[in-house]
Amino acid sequence: MTKVIVSACLIGENCRYDGGNCQNNRVLDYLKDKEYIWACPEQLGGLSTPRFPCERKEDKVINNEDQDVTAAFKKGAQSFIALARAHNCTLAIMKSLSPSCGKGLIYDGTFSGKMKEDNGVTTELLLENNIEVIADTEV
Ligand code: SF4
Repeated sequence: MTKVIVSACLIGENCRYDGGNCQNNRVLDYLKDKEYIWACPEQLGGLSTPRFPCERKEDKVINNEDQDVTAAFKKGAQSFIALARAHNCTLAIMKSLSPSCGKGLIYDGTFSGKMKEDNGVTTELLLENNIEVIADTEV
């Protein structure tokens, strides 16, 4: 049976940068008859909640105070993958547009609300590790 790892904010965990969540009832419905775990890569990377909003800019991740938070994002991605592996998850459901969890489209690093085609840091690593990823918007 497919085991799923999910962005924690979709489950209703208050782990977003603003201290809120993105509970997604469609995702919860989809998970009803499945085994799943959830985690927040940014918290796993050691970032506090709430925290400054972050965006991917070129090969870095920065927050809106122009601090380089790339190391925390990479650490969080590695920890998320380690959890997925430890629990034999073969599918990830990830929150769209996030600099960690976004798939295909994320904010462009200018903090102006503009988007670019790219993946979040954790989604990128999941795909590199051949773990199937679907965005919350695709469920
Ligand atoms: Fe949600 Fe992912 Fe952002 Fe954590 S890092 S709040 S799980 S979108």
